[in-house]
Amino acid sequence: MNEIPLKERMKIERHPMPAQLPKERIENFDEVNLGYSLQIAQKEAQRCLQCKDAPCTKGCPVNVHIPEFLSRIIEGDLLGAADVILNDNFLPAICGRVCPQETLCESVCVLAKKGKPVAIGNLERFTADITTDLRSEREMEGIADPTRKKVALIGSGPSSLACAGDLARFGHSVTVFEALHAFGGVLVFGIPEFRLPKSIVNYEIDVLRRLGVRFEKNIVIGRTILLNELMTEEGYDAAFIGAGAGLPYFLGIPGEELIGIYTANELLTRINLMKAYKKESETPVLSYKDKVVVVFGAGNTALDSARTALRMGAKNVFIIYRRSEAEMPARREEVLHAKEEGVEFIFLASPLEFMGNEDGWLTEVKLQRMELGELDNSGRRRPIPIEDSDFTMEVEMAVIAIGNGTNPLLRNTPGLEFTKRGTLKVNQDTLETTKPGVFAGGDIVTGGATVISAMGAGRKAAQSIHTYLSEQ
Ligand code: FAD
Repeated sequence: MNEIPLKERMKIERHPMPAQLPKERIENFDEVNLGYSLQIAQKEAQRCLQCKDAPCTKGCPVNVHIPEFLSRIIEGDLLGAADVILNDNFLPAICGRVCPQETLCESVCVLAKKGKPVAIGNLERFTADITTDLRSEREMEGIADPTRKKVALIGSGPSSLACAGDLARFGHSVTVFEALHAFGGVLVFGIPEFRLPKSIVNYEIDVLRRLGVRFEKNIVIGRTILLNELMTEEGYDAAFIGAGAGLPYFLGIPGEELIGIYTANELLTRINLMKAYKKESETPVLSYKDKVVVVFGAGNTALDSARTALRMGAKNVFIIYRRSEAEMPARREEVLHAKEEGVEFIFLASPLEFMGNEDGWLTEVKLQRMELGELDNSGRRRPIPIEDSDFTMEVEMAVIAIGNGTNPLLRNTPGLEFTKRGTLKVNQDTLETTKPGVFAGGDIVTGGATVISAMGAGRKAAQSIHTYLSEQ
């Protein structure tokens, strides 16, 4: 129970997340945020006003009972706090680090009206980290007897991981098929180590392994083996498609093929998965040392690319965005961290053409100034080109981070229907696709979204798959 009177609670200032100093952290790939101590966590939890209608819980896509877990932290019952979170959120150490809390639970906290909501994400992360070892003792509890039903999960991102956990607890035999050589989806190949240490993702995967989930790598469903073959020849009773949205969009402007231009996918995958920042790497990326780098886009992927380039020794890194700072979709914390680290921002500018030298290397980019017009379908003000406003910038490297579409590999599967955007059509209540027994969730259904929404979809699909299998 929070025994501090309400008035006093409202006077407590929000506790900032301790972090590595900007000068030091751009020299390494270690996690920037250092986490709360128990003392800070308890003080921060005391700021919660314990609102009866808990708007924060409603603002969370998986409805974690936030005031309840904060009360447990105050009482010092950390395992109890973890239990409350784990009831709804299977990956708290991950979500505590990467969820856009400022647009979800924290945005509707009553204290947000004064600009300082309870630091729910930091407290979720604290609870998950401090109870890691204690939780492992309980992970085998509540597993149903084996059902002998086999479920194939395609992709190993957060949607599949969450789905796998629930299906294993229902007693089903689960196999996750991953196209790459590492498991975790964007959590391992997209989000850099300095925001989300891979040891945390690997820990969660090991929990699933202990629950009996099998992981198969280097298997591309739709190429190595077809989904239909899995269902008919390999004896799978149901399937979940969590294949994400990993196909990068290009700018479609002249010069995009010049040497020195990367997609964010390529840059981040090579850095994260293939350790391409190390000299001894088998597939090093071109040296960013002392280079001028421009990154196009303004989401988390763009920010991750810019901050990765800085850590690889770039002299100057510019984010170039056709709208203004207010429309940036990236998490606020990432924008703040990027600014502290020295990333520069050029707003209201859009690329027209890349120029290169006779050897095919990028040397310049031509840009055009923009202004903001009326709101568009995305609810943001539309960027409109300003005539005769072209200017050029000397650059040596460019990264394109303007979003991803869904991978076409599964589009040849008979029975599966896709939207015009290339996302999978599903029944919104059950997440079953147009092919009986095949369910889907995460970015392959919504287009690029968030870890928590993918995870929520994975859990919802697991419930539907369980119902489907029980009726067979
Ligand atoms: P993914 O995580 O994309 O995983 C899909 C997996 O399926 C991949 O491993 C892929 O290799 C595999 N696969 C694809 N096709 C096949 C096939 N045919 N056969 C076998 N395997 C296949 N969200 C946040 O909430 N916070 C953030 O801070 C954040 N930062 C991000 C940073 C970056 C760089 C990127 C790219 C995204 C970020 N996101 C963030 C978005 C978030 O990571 C995604 O919304 C989420 O990972 C989607 O999960 P998923 O399970 O649908 O797919």
